[in-house]
Amino acid sequence: MLEKRDFYINGAWVKPIEARDCPVIDPSTEDPCAVISLGSEADLNKAVAAAKAAFPAWAATPPAERRAVVVRILEQYEKRKVELAHAVAIEMGAPLDFSLEQQVTCLPWHTNNFLRAFDQMEWIRPLGNHAPDTMIALEPIGVVGLITPWNWPLNQIALKAIPAILTGCTCVLKPSEESPLDAMIFAEFCHDAGLPAGVFNLVNGDGMGVGAALSSHPDVEMISFTGSTRAGKAISKVAAETLKRVTLELGGKGANLIFADADENAVKRGVLSMMNNTGQSCNAPSRMLVQRPIYDQAVEIAAAVASAIKVGSAHEHGKHIGPVVNKRQWEQIQGYIQKGIDEGARLIAGGLGLPEGFNRGFYVKPTVFADVKPGMTIEREEIFGPVLSIIPFDTEEEAVRIANDTPYGLTNFVQSQDGARRNRLARQLRSGMVEMNGKSRGAGAPFGGVKASGRAREGGHWGLEEFLEVKAISGWAVE
Ligand code: NAD
Repeated sequence: MLEKRDFYINGAWVKPIEARDCPVIDPSTEDPCAVISLGSEADLNKAVAAAKAAFPAWAATPPAERRAVVVRILEQYEKRKVELAHAVAIEMGAPLDFSLEQQVTCLPWHTNNFLRAFDQMEWIRPLGNHAPDTMIALEPIGVVGLITPWNWPLNQIALKAIPAILTGCTCVLKPSEESPLDAMIFAEFCHDAGLPAGVFNLVNGDGMGVGAALSSHPDVEMISFTGSTRAGKAISKVAAETLKRVTLELGGKGANLIFADADENAVKRGVLSMMNNTGQSCNAPSRMLVQRPIYDQAVEIAAAVASAIKVGSAHEHGKHIGPVVNKRQWEQIQGYIQKGIDEGARLIAGGLGLPEGFNRGFYVKPTVFADVKPGMTIEREEIFGPVLSIIPFDTEEEAVRIANDTPYGLTNFVQSQDGARRNRLARQLRSGMVEMNGKSRGAGAPFGGVKASGRAREGGHWGLEEFLEVKAISGWAVE
């Protein structure tokens, strides 16, 4: 079992002020795979003090030097990506190959997109010809608190820590207590890349302890959070006292509108996308809306595709999906499946209990419900597991109405070969992102939502802007 009790504060690994061990449970086996410490407010205060002390020098470091450190972080990644993928596999259950190909690759992907945007940043520029002595400067906001979840753990760290470092902020990361191991390796990357002491700090802990202390700390100027809508609200309330900037990337209940003229792979693609990462993605297309003429056929395809998905240990190579992260999530997902049955949806694949052949591990059967009605619990609430709801519709207007009738607004999806219809719908769907005909977002596109999905815009140019303040300066000496 890995012993990972220390925190990374001010450029060194340090012991917690008070010992408070917390096991990291491997969801494939239910056995502990590591032990970490849950930090206290006193540990957090040390980390914030280090970040505060490091801020003036880091903010004044020329952009090219900050860029060079980030490039060296990527070099560390290249050397240690297999180890990183293994850490993600044992802490949150993403199977090894998936972890190596999709989870940890988020770090170089986002970093390269940030670097491209960074190179085009105008740190100081004139307002315009009408006001020649007014300059607009972009400046780092200060010490930022980064609170991340377990489902795409390194993805979230990349989307927060890299832009914080690039823009000249200093930061304290509190990764999810479920998935602290990849975060600790990332801290080693920062150290070995020569990032100055105090620029990046890591304190493990739970939401109520370190998370709440970070969100309310008077020396922290901003919290960047990804996770549940519940925690996002709690953080916003606590942060209001010190008027911090709060950026939230929360849950989702994406609608995937499949029209009768959709391409022949649309249903299959939708099911596989839902089940990817064992359904633990905020942008999962969890409501499949299918136009009536192809509804029966779509239900048949969805059942067959879901039933053919293999479930297995995260320790094994292959294209299967792994367990969900923990017992609490497993039980919650079972509760939703039961609700689906009780409320009269038609179970066409998967269902309650462990998949055949398993007697331990938090495995869930890839599950599909047909004939789901708007308003049913499984249609309203984010399940965060491999459970798909299929809903029939007749007209475009009805589809848009059902899609938008949700508290969430992260990603919606459209499948149709009619370009005019696609473009029309893209503007009518209320969400931060719309993905059509299986095309994923281009490099550097902003990731974020509206309504209960939060209003962060992470990645690329917009992801850098989140960490910057805009300063207007007049009376500038014009040469
Ligand atoms: P969570 O929101 O409780 O945890 C996410 C992070 O926030 C963790 O680091 C946690 O320690 C921290 N946290 C929790 N409460 C906090 C508080 N009051 N103050 C400060 N930090 C706090 O998520 P969870 O319990 O791990 O998962 C529950 C549900 O959240 C899931 O079922 C899913 O619906 C949703 N979720 C969404 C995302 C996403 O990407 N949008 C990610 C993870 C979980």
